[in-house]
Amino acid sequence: MTLKIQSKAPLFGLTGGIASGKTTVANMFAEFGVAVIDTDVIARAVVEPGEPALDEIRRVFGSEVIQSNGALARKRLRAIVFSDDGLRKKLESMLHPRIRAEADRLAAEAISDYHIVVVPLLAESPMKTDMDRILVVDCSEEIQLVRLLERDAESEDQARRIIASQVDRSTRLAMADDVVSNEGDLSATRQQVTELHTLYLSLAADSVTT
Ligand code: ATP
Repeated sequence: MTLKIQSKAPLFGLTGGIASGKTTVANMFAEFGVAVIDTDVIARAVVEPGEPALDEIRRVFGSEVIQSNGALARKRLRAIVFSDDGLRKKLESMLHPRIRAEADRLAAEAISDYHIVVVPLLAESPMKTDMDRILVVDCSEEIQLVRLLERDAESEDQARRIIASQVDRSTRLAMADDVVSNEGDLSATRQQVTELHTLYLSLAADSVTT
C-alpha cells in the first residue's frame, strides 16, 4: 500500500527528536484552531486489541509481545526491535502504511486553513514527500536527555541510546523549512509558534489563490 496523503489544505510536517517538544509545539498550534494530526497517536491506535496490525505483530513476534489483557507489550517489542534492524524494518513495514492511511483519512476530514502533521521520525519516513513544508522542533541533545529523564523512568543509558538511534540534529535541521528553537521557556516557544502561524496562514491563503 503506497498511499499518498491527499489533503486540500497544505500539510506542514512537524518533527523533532525524542522529547524535543513536538507535542508542546503541536498543542500551541491547536490552540489557534489548527488541525493537528499526530502520527504517534495514530501509531498507538492501530495496534489496539482487535486491530489487524496487532494480530500481524503476534504472528511475527510471538505471543510474548502481547500482555495477558490482550494489549501490546510495548516495552518488550521495543527491546526486540531495538536490537535487530531487520525486525525493526519488518515492524515498520507493517505499521507505516496503516499509519499513513489513517493520517490520510484524518487530513481529508479536517477543517482548518492548514494542517500540522506530527511525524517523529519524518527524516526516515516516506511521509516526508506528503508535506508542503517541514517544521523542526529543535533543542540540544543534553536538553532532550534532561526532559526525557524527567518525564519517563528510562535509565540514562537507555535514554542516550534512544537519542543516538535517531537521525542527528544536523540532519534534521538540514531538511527544515522552519525551525522552532525549544531550548528556552515556553513563552519563547509560543512566540515563535505565533509568528509561524501567521506565516502559515498566508502560505495557505496563497495556495488557495494560486
Ligand atoms: P516524544 O518524542 O517523547 O513524543 P515530544 O517531542 O512530543 O516527546 P514533549 O512531550 O512536548 O516532547 O516535551 C517533552 C517534555 O519536555 C515534556 O515533559 C514537556 O512538558 C517538557 N517541555 C517541552 N518543552 C519545554 C520547555 N520549553 N521548557 C520546559 N519543559 C519543556
